[in-house]
Order: sequence, then C-alpha cells, then structure tokens
Amino acid sequence: MVHGAGDLRVEEVAGREPGPGEVLVRVAYGGVCGSDLHYFHDGAVGDFAVREPLVLGHEVVGRVSAGGLAVGTAVGIHPATPCGACQECRSDRRNICASSNYLGSAAHYPHIQGGFVEELIVPANQVRVLPAGLELRTAVLAEPLSVAIHAVRQAGDDAVAGKRVLVTGAGPIGLLVVAALRKSGAAEIVVTDLHEAPLALAAEVGATRTIRAGTQDPGDWAEVAIEASGTAGGLRTCLERVRRGGTVVQVGSLPGGDTAFPGSLLMTRELRLVGAFRFDHEFDTAIAWLADGLPVEPIVTHVFPLAEARKAFELAGDRTIASKVLLEISGDTRS
Ligand code: ZN
Repeated sequence: MVHGAGDLRVEEVAGREPGPGEVLVRVAYGGVCGSDLHYFHDGAVGDFAVREPLVLGHEVVGRVSAGGLAVGTAVGIHPATPCGACQECRSDRRNICASSNYLGSAAHYPHIQGGFVEELIVPANQVRVLPAGLELRTAVLAEPLSVAIHAVRQAGDDAVAGKRVLVTGAGPIGLLVVAALRKSGAAEIVVTDLHEAPLALAAEVGATRTIRAGTQDPGDWAEVAIEASGTAGGLRTCLERVRRGGTVVQVGSLPGGDTAFPGSLLMTRELRLVGAFRFDHEFDTAIAWLADGLPVEPIVTHVFPLAEARKAFELAGDRTIASKVLLEISGDTRS
C-alpha cells in the first residue's frame, strides 16, 4: 500500500466475503508495473495523484477461492471495469471509458484499490480462466502483453506485417511490444534504449537490431515507430526516424503536464501520432499467445515475496539490472 511518495508499506487490512457476482481469488503473483513504480516514487502517475492510501497492483493472477468457479481454478484478472454505457463503451473503445474502474489506480477518488493482496475480490466478468498448461508465473504477463498488443494494433490494421518497426524504450512494455511485433509478422524490429541490459533482453525476445540511444544512429526509416520509453527524447526519436507519412504510437507514460516535442515534423512529414492506453479484448489474445508459447520468459528477471515488496520496488526501478519484477504473493498453491 502506498501512502505517498516513497512511502510503501505491507499492512494487514480486514477482508470481506465476496458478494453476488463476485469472485474471491487467492493471488499467486503480481507484476510490478512502471505505473506502480511512479505511484511509489512520485506519489502520482502522470496526472493521477495518490490522495488516500492505495493498494497497488493491476497485473495479477491466482486461483479461485470462492464465488461461482471451482475452487483452485487458475485465473487471470482483467483489471478494468468500464461503465458500459458511455459513447466510448458503446463504440467498442472501452479501454478509454472515462468512468472505468481499474485495479490499483488513483485516476478516480475514492481510488480503486489494487491486486497486491493475498485475497482479491473482483466482479466475475473480470475473471478469465487460464488454459491448462499455462503457468501462473508466465500468465502474469498477460496484462502488460495486452498493453503491447493494443499499441501494435493502434498502428493500424496490417500496419506492421512485413514492415520495419522502431521501438524506443526496452522496459517491460517495450520488450512485450517487440514480442507482439514478432508475432504480428514485423520483418525488422529496431529497438533503442539507454542501457545495455534491456537491449540484451530485446534481442532475446525478437529484436533484429538493438541500438544504444544517443550513441548510435537508428539507421533507415521505419514504417511505424512505437514509443515505449515515456520520455520526450524517445518521442523525438520516433518523430524523426519514422518514414514520411508514417505512424508513431505513444504507449510509454509521459510525465503529466506539457511535453516538448518537434511538432513541426508532424506537419512537414505528414505523420500520424496515435495514443495507446491500456487495452480491452487484447487480454484474451494475450492469454492465448502466452499459452501458445510466445517467448517472453526472459522479461521476468526477479521474483520477491510480498514481505519484501519494498525491496522489489527499489530493484524494479533500477533499469540497468531489472526488467519485470514479480511479487510472489501466495505462489502457485495448487499442490
Ligand atoms: Zn464507459
């Protein structure tokens, strides 16, 4: 639970019984996301500030304890509950529903408490039964992989198959974007990052070329550029290196407020700049791709018990060492 910038605690809070239409899940693993790290370090993500104690976590998997499904069923949790009634929801763009609840988010007040808990109660329609054979430790990547798949789709239908694609930022989302691009048939995947360790992981999950940002030229034009670093520098690189008439997708979380970027290039080079926020149906695609053996294992670099959450968060912030850090909350208690 984060109480403010730099103030992360592991606490006992009272539980409750699941109500009608709810499922009680014993959480096995939780993935630490860049947004969790922002809440921890800054007390905010972009324009969403922590105004009351917030349980973090929206990348969670576990086993059913009660509520409609067989006890012990392995499940992934879709973290979003869109309103279902607004114009966005009615036009199948539920990921941008302004009233959506999202696990572990300070976007609304009161905040929606998150999934880094031993026992999580969620509406049944957020629960997805995992395919047999998919390990919970792998399935926990379904949420960030969904973000990556949505980012690739935001480039447009068939925009990447057979194409050269630039990805700026090789954090967990950038790496999962690489895996999603590979699966979507991209011919060349060029990845830039400031650090060697994440670039080595990028090569493992399918990058055809890796580049240390600022020290090497990213080379030929890309048809599509996907900005996954959440930095103004990354956005600049994308706008400068995408082909004329090309598409730039912003999936990295930029800081709140204004971001300086070379906007004139949008006009003179007739670029398309598109945002990618969360995901919707992509969650089911992500589970299917993981069950199908999408090679993403190298992305999980560390696993810590819940009691060492603070250590996990501190390490996850060191991009020269860590990529995806997991909290082992109950572990896989099948046996
Ligand atoms: Zn809505």
